[in-house]
Amino acid sequence: MNAEVLVIEDDAQIRRFLRAALVAENYRVHEALTAAEGMAQAAARQPDLVLLDLGLPDGDGLPVIAAIRQWSQMPIVVLSARGQEKDKIAALDAGADDYVAKPFATGELLARMRAALRRVARVGSSTVFQVGDLAVDLEARVVKLKGEDVHLTPIEFRLLQTMIRHAGRVVTQRQLLNEVWGPQHVEQSQYLRVYMGQLRRKLEADAARPRYLRTETGVGYRLAMD
Ligand code: CA
Repeated sequence: MNAEVLVIEDDAQIRRFLRAALVAENYRVHEALTAAEGMAQAAARQPDLVLLDLGLPDGDGLPVIAAIRQWSQMPIVVLSARGQEKDKIAALDAGADDYVAKPFATGELLARMRAALRRVARVGSSTVFQVGDLAVDLEARVVKLKGEDVHLTPIEFRLLQTMIRHAGRVVTQRQLLNEVWGPQHVEQSQYLRVYMGQLRRKLEADAARPRYLRTETGVGYRLAMD
C-alpha cells in the first residue's frame, strides 16, 4: 500500500511541482488549498503524512497543526518561506515534525518525509532504541555505547529519553526545556546547553562534531536516526 500524503498549499505552481515529485515516488497525493479544507481533509482521509504550507489564504498553518494534534500523531512536515524563522519554531512547538524551507530541493523534502514516516513506524514497536554504536533500553534505563555501559545522571537520561521520543525530528529548545525541566523553565536555555554538552561528552566520539545529538542552528536539536 502506497503512503498517502495530504498537501495543504495554496500556491498552484508549488502544488503541481509537489504532486509530480510525490507521484514519481509512488505516494498517493491529495490536495487542499486552504487551512479549513486542510483540516477537513486530514480528518476525513487520515493520510499517512501532511505537507503543510504556513501561509494560507484563510490564516497561517499553526491552527491546522494544533487541530490535527488534538486527535492524531500523523507526521506533519511544514513548508516555510525563507526568513520565517519565528514561524518555523512556532510550527515545531505546535507539534509539527519537521520543516523544509522554500525553495526546497526535492531530494531533501523526500528524505525528511521518509524520516517522519519511519519515526511513526518505529514508535511503540520496541523499548530499545538503537542508532550506530548507541543502544538505549528505555525500560531498564540502560545506555550502552559500543557495548559498554554509560552512566548518565537522571536529568541526562531524561534529556536523552526525550530526544529519543522525538528521534529523527527537530525538537525546539522550548519543547525540550518544557518536557525535561517543566513549563516554568522554558526560558532557561542555559540548562539545555550545559546538559546537552554533558550528554555529548559521554555519547559522542567528537563532542564538537556530534553524530547523534545534532544541533539545528537557531531552532533546537535533532537525534539522528541513521
Ligand atoms: Ca502560501
